[in-house]
Parts: sequence; C-alpha cells; structure tokens
Amino acid sequence: MGLIEMASGNSVWRGMDYYKNKKVIAWEKSGTDTYDGKVSGSGNSKYFVHIDKAHPRKSTCNCPFAEGRRVVCKHMIALYFTAEPQAAKDFLKKVEQWEAEEAEREKQHYDDLKKYVKGLSKTELQEQLLNALVELEERRNCYW
Ligand SMILES: [Zn+2]
Repeated sequence: MGLIEMASGNSVWRGMDYYKNKKVIAWEKSGTDTYDGKVSGSGNSKYFVHIDKAHPRKSTCNCPFAEGRRVVCKHMIALYFTAEPQAAKDFLKKVEQWEAEEAEREKQHYDDLKKYVKGLSKTELQEQLLNALVELEERRNCYW
C-alpha cells in the first residue's frame, strides 16, 4: 500500500491543498524511497516530515495528528506531491476516472429503472406508485 492509500481521504485532500499552496518550505531526497522536508502548518508552526514510499508506515511527522502514531498526515502527502508532482497528477486523474465511472453507474441505474417501470402492467404500476408514495410520506415523518 502506498502513502495515498494509507492516508484518509481528508488528509489526501488537505495535503493536496498544502501542495498547491506551496506549504513545503524545503525538501530533499534522502534515500532511494525517502524524502525529508519542512512543511509549514497552520499559524507559525513548522513540521519536520520524513516519508518512506516503500514503507509508508515508517513515515514520520511531528505534527499533533501524526506524532508517535503510524498514520499518514496531510504534511506527508504535501511533501510527497511536492517531491513527485506526477503522483499528484496521477491521483487527480484517478479521481476524475472514479467520478466518470460513478456517473456511468448512475446513468446505468437510471436506465435500468426506466426499463423496469416500462415493463410493469397498469395494476403493478398503481401498486408500486402507492407504495412509493406511502414510503415517501413515512420518510417525511408525516403519517395520514
Ligand atoms: Zn503532519
């Protein structure tokens, strides 16, 4: 699992913001798969960040969220995207793909529903419509 997969969605997007706003003050490649950097946090805080792409759990940051825990924080993501902008591009491309697939699934679902409704007899339609209306009323917490 990579850094991005290990981070929460929230950390990835906040890290993306940090990357875009150039919050990584300094960084260097410190090994084959590792980077060390300094990232400015909220207010005047600065954090020392170490990331290990091959072993994401060995990444460290001294921010309150990640210190002493084996988690991936937004500062690590910001450092990762700054050191490897292609990773940020790939991530955004993947998100775009997911969204396109999701839209496709929704359209497919809509088409299936339409087909289903068109195949119903009048009696079935009346019954289904009544059920749907009753359910709608109940969901609104308004009983008749
Ligand atoms: Zn951090």
